[in-house]
Amino acid sequence: MRLDRRTLIAGTAAGLVLPAVGCARTNDADEESKMTEVKPVPLGESDVDWKAITEDEWRERLTDKQFRILRKEGTEWAGSSDLNDEKREGVFICAGCHLPIFPSSYKYNSGTGWPSFFDYAEGTLGFKTDYKLIYPRKEYHCIRCGGHQGHVFKDGPDPTGLRYCNNGAALLFVPA
Ligand SMILES: [Zn+2]
Repeated sequence: MRLDRRTLIAGTAAGLVLPAVGCARTNDADEESKMTEVKPVPLGESDVDWKAITEDEWRERLTDKQFRILRKEGTEWAGSSDLNDEKREGVFICAGCHLPIFPSSYKYNSGTGWPSFFDYAEGTLGFKTDYKLIYPRKEYHCIRCGGHQGHVFKDGPDPTGLRYCNNGAALLFVPA
């Protein structure tokens, strides 16, 4: 992990340099989050101006894969995320700003190869329509840092009937 002065200051301001309560599970050190101190930071509990972080700063904070997905609206290969098989109790947080978005109780096995959820913590996501495929899709992103998370489809289970199809690399998991 590169930890220059700017990263350290930003991390401290975000309250992120605290004893870790959990870490992203990974088999590949290169894919490990550069923000190794993983802790949920709920809305209203960060004094960082997330929307003011520049593209270069995001590049320093994130792994290449996280950057491509969160900041460039990329999509990971199906089945590529360890979080597909994550079944423990806990919370899935934005890999960019650590906002807790999906309680583990909202996760279900959609069989698609992407971590899937039928709902999200209220007030944590923003939505817009994209046309990257021929048909319109509803894209959603972290409301705090603007990081792209995934797309929502209307073929999910009860009680919402919705499927939030999320990139695993855009999330970190913090066990309860
Ligand atoms: Zn975020």
